[in-house]
Amino acid sequence: MENRRARGSHSFFKRRLAPASLRGYRGRMKATLLPFMAALSLAGSLQAADKIGEIQLVAPNVYFHQGDLSKGHCNQGWIVFKDFVLVIDGNFPSGVEEVLPKIKATSKKPIKYVVDTHHHGDHAYGNQAWAEAGATPIASEGALAEMKKYETGYYGRHPLGRWEWAAKSRADVRNSKLLPPQIIFKDKMVFDDGTMRAELLYLGNAHTHGDVFVWLPKQRILFSGDACVNGPYNYMGDGNSIDWLKTLDAAKELKPKIMCPGHGGMATASLIDDQKTYFTTLHRLVKPFTTKKAGQQMLTAQTGLLRKQVVKNKQIARYVGDKFPDQLQKIFGDYTGQTLGRLDVQKKAAEEEKK
Ligand SMILES: [Zn+2]
Repeated sequence: MENRRARGSHSFFKRRLAPASLRGYRGRMKATLLPFMAALSLAGSLQAADKIGEIQLVAPNVYFHQGDLSKGHCNQGWIVFKDFVLVIDGNFPSGVEEVLPKIKATSKKPIKYVVDTHHHGDHAYGNQAWAEAGATPIASEGALAEMKKYETGYYGRHPLGRWEWAAKSRADVRNSKLLPPQIIFKDKMVFDDGTMRAELLYLGNAHTHGDVFVWLPKQRILFSGDACVNGPYNYMGDGNSIDWLKTLDAAKELKPKIMCPGHGGMATASLIDDQKTYFTTLHRLVKPFTTKKAGQQMLTAQTGLLRKQVVKNKQIARYVGDKFPDQLQKIFGDYTGQTLGRLDVQKKAAEEEKK
């Protein structure tokens, strides 16, 4: 938890906003209508509590929605431009079903675009459902390349790709179909209608090789996807743990005031520091093993001890979870080229098939 006090914020953050379209909605569904910085000032803390399923007004015309992880849902955001709504993150199809009425309660404008922050199912498998709602999915070149790599079923290389694997356990995936992003950009794509500006940025490898940040320079709000999370949600299997540190530095250079992560509650800029401190701590602990003979076995044997060390640091204790052993192994692998081979869901799928 963060203890630092909230400092001065822009006046619009302090203004209580309740658009007419939301007033009726509030009665039916729990919604947070107090802009984020104002809510923080009242709470006296810079770290917001989990507000799963609520409509959270981050700034005028900018919304955040914390997904329900028990359903596998990612966090989402939406930005209301003059003529349309842009949604951040595709989610699973069931996540689209859940968030669509909430978006429609905040704006009558057409939902035209959805940005997949990366190729993972909980951020991109809802694309077809968004298309049915009128929105075109957007992602980076890197995210599309990742999709081509892992979606072997769709691209015809192996019938059991990640989508098919997810469909085994998820009815919403089974009942939909994979729709790759239709608008692709390399490093930067800008939406600017004179009043609202959103920059879609690829800042380097991180959680995957195609992570997109959505940056609102006027409000200094950064939607980070899973390149920066708030809690024990760092899945590292598809990214590069060494590049990730540099990418977080690049994100920090934007100087955001508000962080809307891919998983976990909304937070202030210190979230980037927390996430980076967690990773640098893990790197520092793993590195000595990388030069030892049988280093990987030693690392595996000492994982419990290392976990105890990391949770002692209050700044990063909340990042330690069941992915901790895989995180250590992934970092070890990125330095040495050796992996345990249990990070890839398709390998798990292949094992399952052999049974
Ligand atoms: Zn992800």
